[in-house]
Amino acid sequence: MNKYALVLVNIKGLGVKTFSYLIPEEMKPVIQIGQAVSVAFGRQGLINAFVVGFSDYLPPEIKAKKISKILDEKPLFSLEYLKLLEWVANYYCCDFITVLNMAIPLKLIDKNAKTEALVEFIKKDGATKRQLEVLDLLEKFKKVNLTEFEKHAKTTRATIKKLESLGCLKIVEDELYRNPLSIFSDVKKEELYALQGEQQKVYEGIKKLKTNNPILIHGVTASGKTEVYFKLIKDTIDSGKNVLFLAPEIALASQLTKRLARKFGINDIAIWHSSISEGERYDVWQKLYRNEIKILAGARSAVFAPLKNIGLIIIDEEHESAYKQTSPAPRYDARLVAEKLAEFHNAKLILGSATPDITSYYRAQNSKTLFEMKHRYNNAPLAKTYVINMQTHMQAAYRGVISKPLQNEIKATLEKGQQIIILINRRGFSTYTQCQSCGTVIECPNCAIPMIWHSADSRLRCHYCNQTMSFPEECPTCGSDALHNSGTGTQKIEMFLKELFPDVNIVRIDSDSLIRKNEHIKILNSFQKGEIDILVGTQMIAKGLDNPNVTLVGVISADASFNLPDFRASERGFQLLTQVAGRVGRGEFTGNVLFQTYNPDFYALQTAREQNYKQFFDTEIVAREEFEYPPFSKIIRFILSCENQFRAEKASQEIALRLNTMVDKFGISEKLEVLGPTMCVFERLNGQYRFQILVKNRMEEKGHDFISRFLHQIVLPKDIKLTVDVDPIDIL
Ligand code: ADP
Ligand code: ZN
Ligand code: ZN
Repeated sequence: MNKYALVLVNIKGLGVKTFSYLIPEEMKPVIQIGQAVSVAFGRQGLINAFVVGFSDYLPPEIKAKKISKILDEKPLFSLEYLKLLEWVANYYCCDFITVLNMAIPLKLIDKNAKTEALVEFIKKDGATKRQLEVLDLLEKFKKVNLTEFEKHAKTTRATIKKLESLGCLKIVEDELYRNPLSIFSDVKKEELYALQGEQQKVYEGIKKLKTNNPILIHGVTASGKTEVYFKLIKDTIDSGKNVLFLAPEIALASQLTKRLARKFGINDIAIWHSSISEGERYDVWQKLYRNEIKILAGARSAVFAPLKNIGLIIIDEEHESAYKQTSPAPRYDARLVAEKLAEFHNAKLILGSATPDITSYYRAQNSKTLFEMKHRYNNAPLAKTYVINMQTHMQAAYRGVISKPLQNEIKATLEKGQQIIILINRRGFSTYTQCQSCGTVIECPNCAIPMIWHSADSRLRCHYCNQTMSFPEECPTCGSDALHNSGTGTQKIEMFLKELFPDVNIVRIDSDSLIRKNEHIKILNSFQKGEIDILVGTQMIAKGLDNPNVTLVGVISADASFNLPDFRASERGFQLLTQVAGRVGRGEFTGNVLFQTYNPDFYALQTAREQNYKQFFDTEIVAREEFEYPPFSKIIRFILSCENQFRAEKASQEIALRLNTMVDKFGISEKLEVLGPTMCVFERLNGQYRFQILVKNRMEEKGHDFISRFLHQIVLPKDIKLTVDVDPIDIL
């Protein structure tokens, strides 16, 4: 029997820490990992904590206090769960505590923290003191689900009025969005479709496989991948096991949940993502733990929800970079964590995409877990795709941006009463502001990137740090007044289209247009219902839309995505173009896709035009091998940043030197290559100069152990910040 319990606490000012407490005799038979307990903590008195481990030994100088009480005998997580978190900490070279803090909603057990979170939330939204007074009211709303809320709302109009007058209604509205499942309580249940041709083959192939290596379904857009997932889900729950289904972002996860609810009823389903309310999170967590949930849908953080007895994990649109958390630590990739999870549960892991990640495709090919679906469901034809060479079409184009062929197609489509998507992957009005006399580009004072003109509030804005400034009256370099907004963003295209087609309903969707959290879903719904003729937007519109009435997609500057100096730029550009082209022809009508470009021969554009993933892959993989980029190496990226450029550079040189010395000492220079330091592409962000060191790791998890050891040895001056990113999604 263990003497001590290791408990996790969350203390103001101290953060998340673990401490040892003595286990009283009477608790010994019942205490378990994952239980919430109450412990005495200095001047704070009794606080809540979680049991995360046991030991028989304490250093002699430490005298442990007793655990006061077990708050709930039912544990909230298991030992296996902690093992998964431990793996994440090791792989991503960060503290276990950081991972725990991210994964386990400590606030759940802490009443005070709950109110605090709410206050924080209101403060963030710019509420006044008077609004804080309605905290109690809001607290009430936090605890009810939608149906109850509606009942409640009807009976307490006065309450709503009061909230409204205090400007708090937005928060309550957000609350509806945060409890999205209740929205679907009215969906009608449907039977699963019988799978057809390719679908059936893929399904049977997957059933035969006995592996928990990732299985990849590469299926063109609308090939019916989702229906295959559904059949596999049904089999899994029929066999008594549970399913985890990930989508890349909250809006898609909500859409997916709705579709799942239709097929499987809402009782066994739950949704999990970073925006669900604390109350909802608590409820779902409890249900998961009681094994009452059979299908959990969610965004990347759902990979850490304590779903039990998993038989199947599905990751849809697996190529999306949103599966990787870039900040804060742990900078995990949900796909990789899911791989570990599948291993722990001996579950099947299925990745699906029309444009798989190069690494996923490469791995699936090699491990013979690749399944292809080359045709659309019902053999619906893929859209016809045309490349408009702007070198020749620019002259005649409207304001030099909207080519004649695109204008004609828009006109023809509108006449048929069909709908249009226009992609322009830059938000704002223009893309940079330049002096036409000396060439100076106006940059953010904090970041070495151009400021971007926003017509809505008539200001220049930095897309990194959000700093704004008014339009300079003269060039800061030469004093001339020839400053000009160049390049094209969503706002400019929206304006031009409204000039060209004044009588139709044109709506823009990008992160600036989404003032409210649920706006995105609202706009997409209204587009789906045919209330919007032309939807203009950033890559947000390339995903998930399944509207049979869309028969034209226009891409304003198809090369924009290829121009970033990053090894994944071609891949990202290809994916975006292919995905957006896939929005067309999902119903009985076929459609057209027009790519406007100044670089018509670029391979990624050509293969996107032909919707030929394989050919893109075959070209891209050669370049990756030649430059030893993933999948031929794994990268661990160090970023050192500091307000002082010289100090940032010096620190990064020192780190590189010490890394190299340690690599030599361990005799692993063949397997662990240290590159740099070099200045980052974004050399200054938020006032911090940035230098990077890239470690190419060819020794798998041993490389991670090595880096973790290294990190424990170094101490950096206070003004230098070190970020370690394992498998970074870009190296900008
Ligand atoms: P994907 O996930 O590959 O983009 P979906 O599964 O969403 O494709 O399928 C595209 C459309 O075709 C959907 O509206 C879906 O309901 C329909 N569909 C797919 N397979 C079948 C089937 N076997 N029977 C009837 N409809 C199907
Ligand atoms: Zn100038
Ligand atoms: Zn900035």
